Amino acid sequence: MTYDLRGIGMTSQRTRDRLVRRLAEHGIDDEEVLEVVATVPRHIFVDEALAHRAYEDSALPIGFGQTISQPFVVALMTMTLLNRPRPRILEVGTGSGYQTAVLASMGARVGKIFSVERLAPLIERARERLHALGLANVRLKHGDGYEGWQAEGLFDGIVVTAAPRAVPDSLLEQLAPGGRLVVPVGDDGVQELKVFDRTESVSEQEFSVSTAEYVRFVPLLKGVQ
Ligand code: SAH
Repeated sequence: MTYDLRGIGMTSQRTRDRLVRRLAEHGIDDEEVLEVVATVPRHIFVDEALAHRAYEDSALPIGFGQTISQPFVVALMTMTLLNRPRPRILEVGTGSGYQTAVLASMGARVGKIFSVERLAPLIERARERLHALGLANVRLKHGDGYEGWQAEGLFDGIVVTAAPRAVPDSLLEQLAPGGRLVVPVGDDGVQELKVFDRTESVSEQEFSVSTAEYVRFVPLLKGVQ
C-alpha cells in the first residue's frame, strides 16, 4: 500500500524502518501490522512542531490533555484485535486518528471502522487527516464512547484507547458472537490491557477474559465536549 505524501511533509524511510525494527524486537510478530506501521505516515497525526519525533516509540501530546498512543501499543492492540478477520470494528477514543488509520489499513482483515471521540476539535482534525490519506472505510462520530455506537452495533471487534476503571457494559453488549474487545482497565497510572472474547453462541452472552500486557493510557471520561 502506498500513500501520497506530497504536501504533507516527508520523513526518511530509515527512521521508520528503525521504529519497525524496535517493535519487532519487542514482540510484534504480525508482519502485516509491521508493514502498516512502516507505511502509515504518523507524522501527519501530530503538530508540525513534533513531526520530527513521530517515529519514536513514544506517546506524544495532541492537545486538550490527550496523547497519540505509543506505536508499540497501537501495534499490540491491532495485532490482538485482529487475531482473525473482523469486518465491523468500533474504536472508542479517535484522538489523532492514528490508531484508526492503522486499523483501516489492515486490508482483508478489516471491513469498516467506526470510531467515537468525545472532544469535537480532535475529531474534526482526525477527519481531515483520514480523508487526506484516502481511507474510505472509516466513519467517525462525536459522542460518548461509554455508550459504544448502538445504532451501528453489533461489532466483531471493539478497541478502547482510553482507560475506564471498569469495563462499560454497553461495550460488552455491542460485541457480536465470536467478537473480541480489547480495553485497558484500571486507575490513572498503569492499566491492564484486557481481552474479552464473546462466545460464538448467539443465545448466551458469555465472555472469556485474559490480560495481554500492562499499559498506560489517559482515562476514559464521561460526556462530550
Ligand atoms: N487512539 C488515539 C488515542 C488518543 S488518547 C490516538 O492514537 O491518537 C484517548 C482519546 O480518548 C482522547 O482523544 C480522549 O478525548 C478520548 N476519550 C476519552 N473518553 C472518551 C469517551 N468516553 N468517549 C470517546 N472518546 C473518549
